[in-house]
Amino acid sequence: MEHNTTKSRRAFLYQLSLAGLSIPLASSTFADEQKQTTMQQKKEGKLGIALVGLGGYAGGQLAPALQQTEHCYLAGIVTGTPSKIPVWKEKYNIPDKNIYNYDNYDSIKDNPDIDIIYVVLPNSMHAEYVIRGFAAGKHVICEKPMALTVADCDKMIAAAKKAGKQLSVGYRLQFEPHNLEMMRLGTTKVYGDIKKMTAGFGFMIGDPTQWRLKKDLAGGGPMQDLGIYCVQGICYTTGMVPVAVTAQEGPKTIADKFKEVEQSLKWQFEMPNGLVAEGEASYGSNMNFLRAEAEKGMFELSPAYNYGGLRGKTPEGPMNFTNINQQAKQMDAMALSMIKNQPSIASGEMGRRDVKLITAVYEAMATGKKIKIQ
Ligand code: NDP
Repeated sequence: MEHNTTKSRRAFLYQLSLAGLSIPLASSTFADEQKQTTMQQKKEGKLGIALVGLGGYAGGQLAPALQQTEHCYLAGIVTGTPSKIPVWKEKYNIPDKNIYNYDNYDSIKDNPDIDIIYVVLPNSMHAEYVIRGFAAGKHVICEKPMALTVADCDKMIAAAKKAGKQLSVGYRLQFEPHNLEMMRLGTTKVYGDIKKMTAGFGFMIGDPTQWRLKKDLAGGGPMQDLGIYCVQGICYTTGMVPVAVTAQEGPKTIADKFKEVEQSLKWQFEMPNGLVAEGEASYGSNMNFLRAEAEKGMFELSPAYNYGGLRGKTPEGPMNFTNINQQAKQMDAMALSMIKNQPSIASGEMGRRDVKLITAVYEAMATGKKIKIQ
């Protein structure tokens, strides 16, 4: 009851402020309330996160997950769209002093409420905003793919070192029970050696004007966006990193959408023990699986990469794990690493490794040659 009253009072005050009415006593009550919420969370020892780029993932997944986290909370926002500010302010009780745009972003260094910057921008912007985040003296979480080039990854890792802060990549499945089970079954060889490994992720992409279809912003097509999950799945299930790759681009059947990036592709990773692991990513068909065929039977996830509803199977029957809030688990795990100032499992080094693998896949696709991965 009390909660609802507070909420509706806040909504009422917000309506008044939108209407341009100035009531100093009432607005200061609202400001006090915001301040208290931030102070309370800080007192509980939680790290304050600022989300940078308030798009689909930040608004649809990360912000709601930050209402459930134990070790971090949503303390601030960075946005280039002023119309998003009143909505976020109201919904998440964010004080004005913790709201930034891309121009005054660097001044976040003077804000003790913000401990972690979470970069949720289009792929080509990751490197710049991560490096500026470290220059501001904060820990940084960067969405996947970490960057478009290995050289940029190196700069990001160097910036983290210089700042003495941690860099993590938003690999939520590194903390997810079904995917952790794939890691365990594969790396401890519960069903013997893996003889065949396949992974595929695809969906039908919508809006033809979105940044995901623009090479300069996305760096490529479904490989950058979806194939990266298959790369991760292959590495964590086998416990190995590929040493060579061949790849083939699929046909462009929806040509108007794919002027700049691939519609689909397949690739074959050669693993250090000779195993060939096959991956596939597409913006023109639906698929979602991670499958290992081992000496004593097959274990797999399908769907493997969604935010929820994951299902797994082993030779002994269905996996029995609860679907969790993946983003809450991921951010809590990363916040704990940052509190201890230790690298998270999903470190910048892991992000760099994957950018290197993706670069090799694209090179193999473009040249038609087998590309060695050093
Ligand atoms: P959206 O397009 O929904 O949002 C991106 C936001 O970035 C925009 O809303 C905007 O926020 C800001 N932005 C700044 N400059 C530009 C620009 N030139 N073009 C477009 N947007 C711009 O993308 P997503 O949220 O889906 O993806 C963002 C990142 O998160 C990507 O790197 C993606 O790979 C990753 N992601 C990760 C997922 C995961 O499961 N780990 C799932 C989905 C995405 P504002 O208006 O506030 O400035």
